[in-house]
Amino acid sequence: MGVSGTKKTPAKQSAAKQAAGTKQVSAESAIELESKFGAHNYAPLPVILERGEGVFVWDTSGKRYYDFLASYSAVNQGHCHPKIIEALVQQARKLTLTSRAFYNDSLGEFEKFITGYFGYEKVLPMNTGAEGVETAMKLARKWAYEKKKIPENQAKIIVCAGNFHGRTISIVSASTDPESSGNYGPFTPGFVVIPYNDAGALANALSDPTVAAFLVEPVQGEAGVVVPDEGYLSRCFELCKKENVLFIADEIQTGIGRTGKRLACDHEQVRPDLLILGKALSGGVYPVSAVLADDEIMLCIKPGQHGSTYGGNPLACRVAIAALTVAKEEGLAENSERMGQLLRRELGQLKSKRISCVRGKGLFNAIVTVPDSGITAWDICLALAANGLLAKPTHNDIIRFAPPR
Ligand code: PLP
Repeated sequence: MGVSGTKKTPAKQSAAKQAAGTKQVSAESAIELESKFGAHNYAPLPVILERGEGVFVWDTSGKRYYDFLASYSAVNQGHCHPKIIEALVQQARKLTLTSRAFYNDSLGEFEKFITGYFGYEKVLPMNTGAEGVETAMKLARKWAYEKKKIPENQAKIIVCAGNFHGRTISIVSASTDPESSGNYGPFTPGFVVIPYNDAGALANALSDPTVAAFLVEPVQGEAGVVVPDEGYLSRCFELCKKENVLFIADEIQTGIGRTGKRLACDHEQVRPDLLILGKALSGGVYPVSAVLADDEIMLCIKPGQHGSTYGGNPLACRVAIAALTVAKEEGLAENSERMGQLLRRELGQLKSKRISCVRGKGLFNAIVTVPDSGITAWDICLALAANGLLAKPTHNDIIRFAPPR
């Protein structure tokens, strides 16, 4: 007889009740626990999630929600995708970490797979997105000194106002958001900030011969899903080529199907000199990031000059191969293009005095609320959650709509 068919004695009933009760209590206190014992570096919406599958997540009371944040675009393939989980479990049973002191039987296979997938000669695997960005910046500087022959310690990286590339000291040194950088100085020098979506500003900044690279998000995510004008990326790429400056695309959030193409740069047939990926590279299952480049750039870094204990570990490699395979097999990019158009069309028809604009590309979208309309983006997100849809405000007036698939 199965468990569900077992006749419950009063003692068993009370134990089951107690267990359920304990769970309920612990769910309620989860927020208190985080508040009491965790750093206060996030302000989550008050929902406590315990399960996810595809586009859905469930809270501890069993309420189901559409996940319209998709873990900041890390779960483009859907929550707990069975093929990615299977790859994780199989590899976890065999070998998880060797460090790079030795070879392992997964890394080379992953490197061949991902370089073929995106069309580059080499890859350097890391873990988080921020590490991917740091790696790209280090590669750009190395290349600038060793190939472009920029005088020592003078290399500059051009970045855009409103950027978000992560949270390390060097990355926040390039940020224009006081929330990200306030009281974290002294900062890393060598960044030049220009306005986003302004190729003329880039042309001016490129007249400095000590510029090594231009680092850009093809769509600015954390800034509120800011989509640049058509032709911006290709124009910037051309300008960089003319001045022998590396074009670095941070596709950590826009990559792997999010904007309706494999990469957001694919919309303009731009092949970045350095391509940074993270998040959906593992389908939200495990932290995996990577920088892709050709030999001329990548081989500037020699043994001992950069690395990470976990970067390129067998588990990460197997998970990333599975995540990229799923993205291709299941036509994630095509689906994102189709569903994104549908979403924007329907949202655009909403007649609300509180929405000033709907924008986006593929399934990377946002609605901008009208300031002082009597309701904040946070309030709207609470109301959406009550109605079974999870989204998160970015800044005070923008709500991102970026569901898994
Ligand atoms: N770059 C972009 C464009 C991002 O959106 C993010 C995270 O949101 C990062 C870098 C940093 O990634 P991580 O949080 O994995 O360090």
